[in-house]
Amino acid sequence: MPESLAELEIRRAAIQSEFAHLGDMRSGSITGTGGRCGNPRCHCHRSGGPGHGPYYRLTRKVGGKTVTETFSSPAELAKAQREVSEYHRFRDLGGQLLDVNEGICRLRPVEEEEEAPMVPEKKRRKPSAKRSRAR
Ligand SMILES: [Zn+2]
Repeated sequence: MPESLAELEIRRAAIQSEFAHLGDMRSGSITGTGGRCGNPRCHCHRSGGPGHGPYYRLTRKVGGKTVTETFSSPAELAKAQREVSEYHRFRDLGGQLLDVNEGICRLRPVEEEEEAPMVPEKKRRKPSAKRSRAR
């Protein structure tokens, strides 16, 4: 069922208002890995023993290079997970906003310009006239 231009504009306004409520965001992805700690007497250093983990780290691209961050506390990890998931929401909303705009552009009728830019003006134009009328 194709939506009307007015419906698409309502949907676009809803998506735009969701953008306004996005929280702190950061790019990257968080992955968990197992591992051994720095204490050589810990059980994880015994041969065949299980490592610790999973340890979480965030990787992201900075200027074409992959940068890794580790987290010193569960709270820090939880904060980063919130920030990264907010980023993914931002990306998702951005895709939705583009989709709805492409629909709007297809349906938006071509309107004659009030002032055709290729036609020379008779005398003087008032660029402020349109703006002050719109207020
Ligand atoms: Zn250990």
